[in-house]
Amino acid sequence: LTSSTTGERLHVIHIAAEMAPVAKVGGLGDVVTGLSKALQRKGHLVEVVVPKYDCLQYESIRDLKVLNMHVESYFDGRLFKNKIWVGSVEDSLRRTDTRFSAFFCASRAFFLKFPCCYMWQAPLYWDLYVPKGLDSARICFTCHNFEYQGSAPASELGSCGLDVHQLNRPDRMQDHSAHDRVNPVKGAVVFSNIVTTVSPTYAQEVRSSEGGRGLQDTINTYSKKFVGILNGIDTDAWNPATDPFLKVQYHSNDLDGKAENKAALRRYLQLSSVNDRQPLVACITRLVPQKGVHLIRHAIYRTLELGGQFVLLGSSPVPEIQREFEEICDHFKTHEHARLVLKYDEALSHLIYAASDMLIIPSIFEPCGLTQMIAMRYGSVPIVRKTGGLNDSVFDFDDDTIPSHYRNGYTFLTANEQDFSNALQLAVNHYMNDADSWKQLVQKVMNLDFSWDSSAPLYEELYHKSVARARSRK
Ligand code: ADP
Repeated sequence: LTSSTTGERLHVIHIAAEMAPVAKVGGLGDVVTGLSKALQRKGHLVEVVVPKYDCLQYESIRDLKVLNMHVESYFDGRLFKNKIWVGSVEDSLRRTDTRFSAFFCASRAFFLKFPCCYMWQAPLYWDLYVPKGLDSARICFTCHNFEYQGSAPASELGSCGLDVHQLNRPDRMQDHSAHDRVNPVKGAVVFSNIVTTVSPTYAQEVRSSEGGRGLQDTINTYSKKFVGILNGIDTDAWNPATDPFLKVQYHSNDLDGKAENKAALRRYLQLSSVNDRQPLVACITRLVPQKGVHLIRHAIYRTLELGGQFVLLGSSPVPEIQREFEEICDHFKTHEHARLVLKYDEALSHLIYAASDMLIIPSIFEPCGLTQMIAMRYGSVPIVRKTGGLNDSVFDFDDDTIPSHYRNGYTFLTANEQDFSNALQLAVNHYMNDADSWKQLVQKVMNLDFSWDSSAPLYEELYHKSVARARSRK
């Protein structure tokens, strides 16, 4: 993060593990691309550095070429030559013309040998580059999820050319669980100029022992540089009026298109189409404990009891969870009202957002969550647990203590089946018993603004302040 000496134009370099659509596993990829595009639209120069995975979606990268230079990096007593590819990522599929360049680095030392190499960058910067006078950049560490901390043997610091003795200390990078392990997320909190996380509520939650996953003391020590900014969504990529993945495009004043997508999804998944007014409840998620898998499972059966249809799109990196859902999937293979699709499928996810009437997100914790915002943009009403970013973006329809224009979904507090079931039932009853009021709710949520236009300026302001502070110290 640097700025030109003449103007307010920032040079922002995002170093990230994901970037939609070229390399996306979950929300991080969406966020990197959405924030980059929003900052670029504001006139800043934005570059994204991602590893050159074998599975990159090459058709989304234009003019990919190898730079005629080698950047060397040190690993285990040897210097490695890193090839760097540069290209532009433009979302022609999604009909936007924003471009920004991306560096794709295949570096054994930086990207293959280290777990969580991205978070090593802050200590690397202060330890190796600043003493050589390369000190004009400021570092902002944005943590998307404090659950993934990637602790590693302290000796790996030495392999990387860093001073193990200096860094493996309780007030620096030492992991809370063992003296001979270092924690890159902790290092990033300690050594970055600014630390952000992805919603104001999550920024509070991680200060407690339950939410901080061992990092709460470090986060509290550095609370002055710690801020929560709610993610936005990329409203070009997620736009029901232009979405090429839909059967029919639609907008809030013409909901017939939404009904056609519902019919199309039912046909595609071979669900019963007998009753147009049968609510379709969906869930699109990674099936990991964070997402409340027991509540997701419960919702399938409860939705059927309430007379609705249920569609799940998700897969799990945890073998037991994957097996359990495969069994449920088998059980409902030919059911007329429930279908589980256990894979990652971008195109199908768009159709499900458009087709569904409600989307459930019963997370145990949720740093921000994007699916509730995407769902609303497509007129699917979110039913969520009040945690993290869900608490900052979804407000209960029946809660009289909240101004009515904010009320945009159904929420519950305690992560148990009963409370979740009540919220689901209230939503289904609303849908079944008052079609007009439901339609108004659908139109309202579709018109809410969850674009980066609100959040990108907050990042911009933070970046500017940090660069200005650095300059005033020179
Ligand atoms: P997380 O980053 O924790 O996975 P988010 O709600 O922040 O959760 O982001 C999830 C993103 O991944 C959304 O864009 C969602 O549509 C997408 N997604 C999750 N599971 C799938 C799937 N099985 N197929 C397609 N897209 C998925």
